[in-house]
Amino acid sequence: MKNVYIIGIGLIGGSMALDIKRLYPKSTIYGIDSDESHLEDAFELNIIDKKAAIKDISNADLVILSIPVDASLEIVGDVLNKISDETLVIDVGSTKRLFCELIENHPKRRNLLATHPIAGTEHSGPKAAVLGLFENKTNIICEVEKTAFKLQERALKLFGELGMRIRYMNPVAHDKHIAYVSHLSHISSFMLGKTVIEKEKNERDIFDMAGSGFESTVRLAKSSPEMWTPIFKQNKDNVLETLDEYIANLKQFKILIEKDDFDAIYHEMKDTNHIKQILKGIE
Ligand code: NAP
Repeated sequence: MKNVYIIGIGLIGGSMALDIKRLYPKSTIYGIDSDESHLEDAFELNIIDKKAAIKDISNADLVILSIPVDASLEIVGDVLNKISDETLVIDVGSTKRLFCELIENHPKRRNLLATHPIAGTEHSGPKAAVLGLFENKTNIICEVEKTAFKLQERALKLFGELGMRIRYMNPVAHDKHIAYVSHLSHISSFMLGKTVIEKEKNERDIFDMAGSGFESTVRLAKSSPEMWTPIFKQNKDNVLETLDEYIANLKQFKILIEKDDFDAIYHEMKDTNHIKQILKGIE
């Protein structure tokens, strides 16, 4: 792997760049980003070797497309038009249905692999990039059969070297499931943060009482609105369905408290403790 172009040199793209450089020290990592200060930071931090632009990618062996999902829809056609027949393009966006539909009939569809690495943090930009981010994490691959076989093999070899487990899923199922395990968690964290911030205006002391439970539950509320707004927009129907179910559960919990039915509340929580076994199973 000689020429690697990362479009969007933030948390995910930057972390990929660090791992690829470790695995392939002789490769040249080119960074492309609409934010000049991010490109500068990535260069200073040795995440990229050179700054580049999309017009340069004709010599790419590998292109990682790691920009917000609305921006990906806008530029993926141009990216595919400019690559060579041998280039592998890996998209890492958090929604997959609209993206896969958009590129379905592109003449270079077979050069692209649609993925969603289930790895990340609440931080963004190149300063948030970390070596080994993808180790022991799951990578969801959509419509693998639409990618040329030899390019699939190259991608799977790289994911193996990054330490990732692979799950195959169709884009519709991906967007439905991810709404529950990722998108809803972010909304609930953002709204928990909002609820407490609104209260804090009058009661400063509340933060002295906020222990690690609050901190871990509200962690995702630090996430980037630039990244999350287009995700909620693209996955609107699934997000609305999860919100309906979540709000119904919250209302039910409230009714039980109002009715002093603490027996039922105990059992609600006891049943939900089952999450321990579920999460242990996927550790
Ligand atoms: P990030 O840290 O904000 O990095 C994205 C970078 O792309 C930023 O520097 C951004 O600049 C730049 N950018 C935005 N539009 C661009 C364009 N049209 N052309 C070139 N550069 C552009 O975001 P991230 O967390 O790495 O996320 C990148 C992708 O990975 C997203 O599609 C996201 O859904 C997906 N993903 C994220 C996670 C996660 O946990 N963060 C996990 C899995 C997948 P500005 O900041 O100036 O906009």
